[in-house]
Amino acid sequence: MSTTPLAAAAIAQLEAEGVDAVIGTVVNPAGLVLAKAVPIRRTNAFAAPGMGASLVWHAFAIDQTGIAFTENIGVVGDQRVRIDPSALRIIGDGLAWAPAGFFEQDGTPVPACSRGTLQRVESALAEQGINAVIGHEIEFMVVDPDGGRLPSTLWAPYGLAGILEREAFVRDVSAAATAAGVGIEQFHPEYGVNQFEISLTPHAPVAAADQLVLTRILVGRAARRHGLRVSLSPAPFADSVGSGAHQHFSLTTSDGPLFSDGSGAHGMTAAGESALAGVLDGLSEAQGVLCGSIVSGLRTRPGNWAGAYTCWGAENREAALRFVAGGPANPYGGNVEVKVVDPSANPYFASAAILGLALDGITRKATLPPETTIDPVTLSDADRARDGIVQLPRGQLDAIAALDGSARLRAILGDAAVDAIVAVRRLEHERYANLDPEELADKFRMAWSV
Ligand code: GLU
Ligand code: MG
Repeated sequence: MSTTPLAAAAIAQLEAEGVDAVIGTVVNPAGLVLAKAVPIRRTNAFAAPGMGASLVWHAFAIDQTGIAFTENIGVVGDQRVRIDPSALRIIGDGLAWAPAGFFEQDGTPVPACSRGTLQRVESALAEQGINAVIGHEIEFMVVDPDGGRLPSTLWAPYGLAGILEREAFVRDVSAAATAAGVGIEQFHPEYGVNQFEISLTPHAPVAAADQLVLTRILVGRAARRHGLRVSLSPAPFADSVGSGAHQHFSLTTSDGPLFSDGSGAHGMTAAGESALAGVLDGLSEAQGVLCGSIVSGLRTRPGNWAGAYTCWGAENREAALRFVAGGPANPYGGNVEVKVVDPSANPYFASAAILGLALDGITRKATLPPETTIDPVTLSDADRARDGIVQLPRGQLDAIAALDGSARLRAILGDAAVDAIVAVRRLEHERYANLDPEELADKFRMAWSV
């Protein structure tokens, strides 16, 4: 990440455009967006040396009080949160925003920093001559300021009424995105009542995750302007469908794309098939990173289009990995949609896990198992066993244990990151595993809201 200071003229220009303060954000292992703000003239100090942050920033849990202390995360020590000025955006009403990362006081990167981790994976791919691109989707539920249900008299899945009921909000989000340089590809009412989805323009991995965080900020601000709030819980209401945070990824080398124009399944190249196989192989171990919160299991049910089974299939919305073939209808070319990811995940760690597994698959020329062409729930146990398909465990402890014991994920993300993710998720389990689904959904409906 760049911490090159802005030129005085650039700061003067921001001031001339009415910017009074800069917000810098990091996302912690529990998926919480944490922030500091500085007056505009302190922008360069925010880039280097950065603003102080205790080590417990990595350990704040989703219940507004918990801190998941570990051997390495305690009350002693201090790090620096540094913004990346090259990614700064003006977001209106006197504010600018920039993504930030964690650094030690001597300026070295902190291994558990999620943005730094994704940067490392992006660089590892680049060293192999592979360019990765990620397109994020955001699903969220609009709620009242207390997190309560809003009326839904006029609502149908994908129904026009959803847009018209909230047209000022939809317009406001669209305008804010345009002004901040966020690429919204589409915006629509989802299946759940008062649930919306936004698809974002694909970018290089770190830039894409930055854009996702910025979009959450813009959506949260727009909602407030209309007396609303936004739930980013994977399971906002226990009796309703969940919200995903699907990530589409594609890979390219100097020879061309790996998921289009090849001679393998649905136009994949051999390396593309291995990349997909690598992600599939590691899914159970990555579950704790992709959808590992205490409420995630309420969403990953068969029938929820959340990809509850570890299989892949072209346009199969019940497969954890939905392959989207290239062609005239897909201007970005062939890509893989990782459906299991939910909004409780740290998006930087989630992308790092996905891309690291893809690279692992390519490196060891992993073989792609047969495609699942039907709803995996309808397969017989014998068929599932033959193709190595399992239903992702809905119990959080299983997902935590699989991640904790995963040599692969530890190699990709680093021990510091895995230990921190395991710690925050374990705290959730220890404190809240006794709650029933309704209590869980209610308690954490606004946990990830910004
Ligand atoms: N809401 C579903 C989920 O939890 C996804 C629906 C869709 O396929 O867009 O992931
Ligand atoms: Mg959707």
